[in-house]
Amino acid sequence: MIRDPETIKQLVDLIERFVRDRLVPAENKMAEDARLPDDILQEMKELGLFGLTIPEEYGGLGLTMEEEILVSIALGRTSPAFRSIMGTNNGIGSAAIVFNGTEAQKQKYLPRYATGEWVSCFCLTEPDAGSDAASLKTTAVRDGDHYILNGTKRYITNAKVAHTFNVMARTDPDNKGARGISSFIVEKDTPGITLGPVDKKMGQAGSLTCDVIFEDCRVPAENIIGEEGEGFVTAMKVLDRGRLHIAGVSVGVAERLIKDALDYAIQRKQFGKPLAEQQLIQAMLADSQTEAYAAKCMVLETARKRDNGENVSTESSASKYFATEMVGRVADRAVQIHGGAGYMSEYAVERFYRDVRLFRLYEGTSQIQQLIIARNMIKAAS
Ligand SMILES: Cc1cc2nc3c(=O)[nH]c(=O)nc-3n(C[C@H](O)[C@H](O)[C@H](O)COP(=O)(O)OP(=O)(O)OC[C@H]3O[C@@H](n4cnc5c(N)ncnc54)[C@H](O)[C@@H]3O)c2cc1C
Repeated sequence: MIRDPETIKQLVDLIERFVRDRLVPAENKMAEDARLPDDILQEMKELGLFGLTIPEEYGGLGLTMEEEILVSIALGRTSPAFRSIMGTNNGIGSAAIVFNGTEAQKQKYLPRYATGEWVSCFCLTEPDAGSDAASLKTTAVRDGDHYILNGTKRYITNAKVAHTFNVMARTDPDNKGARGISSFIVEKDTPGITLGPVDKKMGQAGSLTCDVIFEDCRVPAENIIGEEGEGFVTAMKVLDRGRLHIAGVSVGVAERLIKDALDYAIQRKQFGKPLAEQQLIQAMLADSQTEAYAAKCMVLETARKRDNGENVSTESSASKYFATEMVGRVADRAVQIHGGAGYMSEYAVERFYRDVRLFRLYEGTSQIQQLIIARNMIKAAS
């Protein structure tokens, strides 16, 4: 749902200009330093990018899902690591509080996330619980006015810079499944938190992940989000929205890769004419354009349905599955169209080829999306 077409057009135009004039020229530096330049971080905060999805009454822009997708496509046209830094505040790090937090929690945390003063992160994955997240082992044991957390979380995006951790932990040891899990806000200064070294990754340099270890970490009981046992259901709701966002970013990245490949194919000559006039190159360009357009239609349609209050579990997974696989194919073709140059780090397609690999892995792998889609189909038929 677009609330006011003119306002959203202005916002998207503004972000497109910021991406083109500030982020694209800084891509190489961020990849080399594996660090977001301070001036760009500050500009992102000033533009309100940390509060895109936080409701207006808590200082954010309160974008609808369709509006968020238009923004995510615009942000996708540069290195995904830029988006990743404010992505957790807008998505998986704050959404549980937006969906299920108390008024006091909303008042305390959301305005700080919206300005970027505080960064949040989402702690679900563990060394022995990835796709099977409901089997997580981190425990939260009630002790008077506190819960005591013990366990290790793995590959946590933005943990190194986070002020708060949204942690899923088991409050009911007798229930080994999803219903035994609760969700907590843990502030970074709470004694008993240790961060592991920054992970060395394949791509998205500048977006930092690491382990988060909780050892007898005492968290005030008021920091539980919702009721005991609701944590996993809330986390799945959070991921439903996050998956659509990732699908939107995948469309934006695909559009960028298509532009880079087309520009290169027009200027590079072989056999006496531009690559773009070779029909096999045209086939790769046309396939990429067609698939990116299909993904864009899917994700926008799903976003509109979600804004209308429909259950979009199937469509959300289908969008994430198709868009993230699509951008993998588009990145592969973009490298192919560049020939040997596509293997060289001088060209952005080399970096994007590595960056986009992540989209098929996190917030539910492609196989997990397939399982969700099929499970929903079977449920609807029986
Ligand atoms: C860079 C990065 C950032 C991340 N950020 C976060 C974060 O901020 N917060 C967070 O909580 N997590 C985060 N993750 C974790 C991510 O969500 C998990 O890595 C992902 O869910 C997969 O879990 P796994 O790595 O344990 O793989 P596994 O679950 O071990 O899966 C391995 C393979 O088996 C397949 N598989 C598993 N089960 C089945 C099945 N039933 N049927 C068919 N195939 C199956 C998977 O699809 C995959 O191909 C991040 C990961 C990375 C790499």
